[in-house]
Amino acid sequence: MEKKVAVYPGSFDPVTFGHLDIIDRASKIFDHLVVSVFVHSAKKPLFTVPERVIMLKQALKNNKKVSIECFEGLLVDYLKKKKLQVVLRGLRAISDLEYEFQVAAINRTLYSKVETVFFMPSQRYAYLSSSVVRDIAHFGGDVSKLVPPFVAKQIAAVKRSKI
Ligand code: ADP
Repeated sequence: MEKKVAVYPGSFDPVTFGHLDIIDRASKIFDHLVVSVFVHSAKKPLFTVPERVIMLKQALKNNKKVSIECFEGLLVDYLKKKKLQVVLRGLRAISDLEYEFQVAAINRTLYSKVETVFFMPSQRYAYLSSSVVRDIAHFGGDVSKLVPPFVAKQIAAVKRSKI
């Protein structure tokens, strides 16, 4: 039987408990997940792509169904290159819906074989985003309930190096 494989694209700057919750849920449905860091996100990054990949690898080291990659350019071109067709995205609140629908529709227009599947996180992560984590970090707040301990450590290190 053909393996069910999905690509989970995102900035992951940095990975949060929200991303990990989605990956955990999707791991129960799919045979394999490719978590892929988008190289050129518009947002001003806190971490470099290699740093983000290292943090994802650390966070997911016990999940045998996951591999970590990065990609540049259009998601549909990356999917074609990898011969994959399923995209995994997380929906936090209704506010995510419009943007996610637009992206999913455009991806399908560009590549008709693409299917985007959406997973809902646990309620407690419904308002968590990497940008919220970056904002809290910027003002020296406590991010320990939002990201794994080693990510919190990396955030503290980045802050120190910028002072
Ligand atoms: P952001 O900067 O918005 O946190 P990313 O570009 O890294 O996010 O997001 C990748 C995917 O993960 C998107 O589909 C986004 O909606 C989803 N996602 C991010 N945080 C959460 C969360 N707390 N719960 C569910 N999905 C999430």
